[in-house]
Amino acid sequence: MKLVVLCFWALFPCTMLWAQDQVQRELETPSVPNTILNAFPLKNALWRGNTISVCWENPSPEDSLKREWVRQAITETWQASSAVRFTDWCPASEKNGDIHIFVEDKGAGAYTRGLGRELRFRKKGMVLNFDFEKWNTSCKRYPEECIKSIAVHEFGHALGFAHQQERSECIFPDCSRREKSWKGDWFISPCDTNSVLNYCNPRYNNDGKLSEIDKEALQSLYGLPENLQQSHIQLVSTYQHRRKEIYEVKVYLQSSEEQLAKIDTVEYLLHNSFQNPMVISTNLENHFGLGLRVWGNFELKARIYFKGEKPITLSHKIQIPDLIEKDDLLRERNQ
Ligand SMILES: [Zn+2]
Repeated sequence: MKLVVLCFWALFPCTMLWAQDQVQRELETPSVPNTILNAFPLKNALWRGNTISVCWENPSPEDSLKREWVRQAITETWQASSAVRFTDWCPASEKNGDIHIFVEDKGAGAYTRGLGRELRFRKKGMVLNFDFEKWNTSCKRYPEECIKSIAVHEFGHALGFAHQQERSECIFPDCSRREKSWKGDWFISPCDTNSVLNYCNPRYNNDGKLSEIDKEALQSLYGLPENLQQSHIQLVSTYQHRRKEIYEVKVYLQSSEEQLAKIDTVEYLLHNSFQNPMVISTNLENHFGLGLRVWGNFELKARIYFKGEKPITLSHKIQIPDLIEKDDLLRERNQ
């Protein structure tokens, strides 16, 4: 999708930029106030929306139970602990899912070909092993436990998280394992011995359970599960038609004055076609607003930093009106 974007009404100016197909990586650590040390995701690889479809590239009737173990493990961990929804789980021949899983038993084991959105539509983006004849043979005795815990680990990568042991500032007792693997660039939680993404965890893949810090990092990036969501702050957008297919969009927070006054900073994570996809607003007067000039729809995230409270993350769809009626077209959406 081609998308033109231009920021205005924000602290950081952006310039017009055509969409790029390749994943951009920003390796510098963002200067975000209140960012706590230190999960380990790759910032630009985070999924913009919270609905991620999954498909199987080579499902067979014989492995249906094992595929169900995977679905169940992911539903009970990453999905149950956040606003993320993994959908479909159908054959790739039926739907081109965001995440493609290929099952094979080879020495290379189980892995992903990148982090987060880097996997999008990627053939064999995630490889899982169901048989353990050629890799991790001890798992033959505990296939369900292994298949589930390995899947939880790999889906951590699929959500954008890198290995804990790759963090140079983290020293784990009795463990010096560092391998050349995907690295994150955004330190949002402390070094976590118990992470499901830590090779130095004395429990293999933390027994397929998310650590408390895994959950906290997940929720700060993808939002709380529905039953814990804070409904008193919402993202709102207004749309004004400018010319041809170009719309001006304003995005801001809607809440009580009292609640807004508790907010220190809002960090917007935009579509990758923005030259600077991370925009920070500290402007209480305009409700931490952001102005964009766009054509095309996308989903953004807003990470809201409070004064003295834990940050939260909200998702919001930028969806321009279907019909261009008049120049004064102004619609307000409240999602
Ligand atoms: Zn891994």
